[in-house]
Order: sequence, then C-alpha cells, then structure tokens
Amino acid sequence: MIVIHYGEIGVKGRNRVMFENALVRNIRKALGDVVVRKEHGRIIVEGDVEEKEEKEAITERLQKIPGIENFSFAVETGLDIEEIKRAAIMVAKQEKFKTFKVATKRANKNFPLSSMKVNEEVGREIKEGMGKDVDLSNPDLTIFIEIGGENAYISTKKIPGIGGLPVGSQGNVVALLSGGIDSPVASYFMMKRGCRVIFLHFYNENLVSSPAKVEEIVKKLTEYQLEAKAYFVPFGELQYAVISSVPSRYRMIVYRRVMARVANEIATKEKAHAIITGDSMGQVASQTIENLRCIYDASFLPVLPPLIGMDKREIVEMAKKIGTYDISIRTYDDCCSFMVAKHPATRANVDKIREMEDNVDYDIARMLEGAVVRKFSIR
Ligand code: ATP
Ligand code: MG
Repeated sequence: MIVIHYGEIGVKGRNRVMFENALVRNIRKALGDVVVRKEHGRIIVEGDVEEKEEKEAITERLQKIPGIENFSFAVETGLDIEEIKRAAIMVAKQEKFKTFKVATKRANKNFPLSSMKVNEEVGREIKEGMGKDVDLSNPDLTIFIEIGGENAYISTKKIPGIGGLPVGSQGNVVALLSGGIDSPVASYFMMKRGCRVIFLHFYNENLVSSPAKVEEIVKKLTEYQLEAKAYFVPFGELQYAVISSVPSRYRMIVYRRVMARVANEIATKEKAHAIITGDSMGQVASQTIENLRCIYDASFLPVLPPLIGMDKREIVEMAKKIGTYDISIRTYDDCCSFMVAKHPATRANVDKIREMEDNVDYDIARMLEGAVVRKFSIR
C-alpha cells in the first residue's frame, strides 16, 4: 500500500471534499491503473509494490504531484494490536538499525489503545524480539503506525512531496511562456497552488522553424500538471508592424502589450481568470515597475507574476529543481531574444505607450488564426 498525506487541503472546511477528490483524480492519472481511496484524512493507493525499480518510478511520479505533503510505502493490517506488532517486526527486519522509536497516530479514536500505548506495546515487542534499543530523541529508525478507520498502516519512511494544492482545485490561468528560465518556474508555482495552466508562446516564424524547445519545456511541466494545452502563436508579422512605427526603445513594451491582449483573448475562450508572467522586479530593462505598469495596462484580466520578489539565483535554483533549467539554457530565438534595444526605455509613460500601440496595425483575430494548439499528457 502507499499511504499519502496531504497538508493544507486538510483544513479547507466544506471545500475539503472537492480538494480531496481533485487529489485522488490526479494520483489516479499519475499512477495509471490503480485503486485509490480516501481513508480518514489520508489517501491510500492499494497494491503490493515490491520491486525497487517500481518503487522508484512511483516515488518520482508522486514527488511531482501538487497537494501531496508526504507519502510512504506501508504494510496494511487489520485493527488488531497483535497483527500490528507482527507487521512492525516484519517491517523492522527489512532495515539496518541499532536504535529505534515507534510513532503512532490514531486517526480513529474508536481504537481501544491510545497512541502512547501502541508505541509502548510495539516498542517492547521490537526491543525484546530483535534486541534493539529505544531512542526517542535521535533514533536510527522510526516505525510509523497509523490507525485508520478500518486498517492500520506500518511504515518506516516518509518521503516528502512538493506540498501545495492539487491541480484543478483552483481555476484556469494562461501563462505567457518564453523559452527563458523564468516563465517555466512561474508556471510551475501556479500549478503548485492548484491552478490549471494553459500555456501561450509567441515565436518568430521567420527565425525559428518550430518552437520545439518550448514544447520540451511544456512536456517537462506536464509531469506536474499531468495534462496541458499550449498555444503557439506566430509573432513575426506583428513585429514588423511594430518596427515600422515604434521607436526601438519602446518596442519590447508594445510587443508585450500585444501578447497580453492575445492572452486575454485565449483566457476568455479557456475560462481562465488571470494571466501569468515570469517577470521579476528589475531583472531586465522591461521589468521596472513603470514598464510593468505600461505592459499590464493592456490586460483586463489580472496579471500575476509569481516570481516578482525573487532573485535570479533563487529562480535558477528552482528551475534546476523542477527540471526545466537544462532545456531553458539551450539557444533559441523566440520573438524577444532578437532586436532587444541597446538602450530600452526604463520608465515608459503609459499614455505615450498607448498612443504608440494605437499606431500599430495588427489584428488579434488574425494572429490567432495562425496559432497551433497542442495537447500534452503524462501518458
Ligand atoms: P524569461 O526567463 O521567462 O524569458 P526574462 O527575465 O528573460 O523572462 P523577458 O524575456 O523580457 O524576461 O520576458 C518577460 C516575460 O514576458 C516572460 O517571463 C514571459 O512571461 C513573457 N514573454 C516573453 N517572451 C515571450 C514569448 N516569446 N512568448 C510568451 N511569453 C513571453
Ligand atoms: Mg526571456
């Protein structure tokens, strides 16, 4: 059996069932053909997992599911202290240790023995039966016993998950995904907070034959979200229109305003409620607070930049952790990596920018006609 604990969703009051169901659904999707059930504030995945490789594969999957606080491979017994003792001995015999402790959690208060009493009884059994010493403060091995509604679960290791909230427990958002390091991390953070992220990438079709690199990034992120939809929108025509009428210092801001408008259009279609970007305060010239104000001004939906207060170093660390970094650093010309002005404006004025945008000849509906929509799935 696998016993899965969720943290934050345990305290969501009446919405709790909805959160739990979202997590159960995602676990089923991630692990494939398994029986998953809820039991007394935890989720149980049924089945024997014996082989090391299988354990590792399952661990890797579960460690990417938002909403899981920790999980353990456990032995299931009935609600009987003798059976629990036998299972504890069996589990302990698979480990190398000198000192140990027993940590019991009794979710089912109808069980006749208190947690303390179970600790004592099982502890004595292992101490006498195996000749090991109890050490409550710094044991080599901890034997976890969980007393549920109909069963008890015995395990020795709690494997940490990523925490957060299950994908699907919050609404949809549209993330502006570049080929860079930051926006994949921003997207990940939104998934981790329970949103379903729809991706939107703009590329210059005259510079790159296909946005393969960004597809790779979406694939990586799909390991967390399990399913994903991505829009790839050609941006070349718009860029020529901008170049012909907007001074170079302001182009990036105008490009990004148009990106925001397209994102709003897609968000409306996809029933999404916010636009996500990888902006981090002051990191590049377009990310001064004045410029962000000029860019976000073009969006009627709220624009949320989850990385706004993070340092580059912290973002890079996170990108490595989630596995997008190595893809992001490959060379790639999206629409913004070329013709970045030598001296971009750092304090644009919103009225002037609006005027500049008004002079650009573009048509969002036509841009969207050229969009390629791709679906991704973990299996
Ligand atoms: P990133 O590492 O995400 O590219 P950055 O620090 O390099 O961010 P910019 O390239 O100026 O900064 O982009 C700022 C944000 O604008 C990105 O995080 C992303 O949300 C959005 N963006 C930029 N280029 C594109 C693009 N080609 N397609 C979609 N969104 C983009
Ligand atoms: Mg970039």
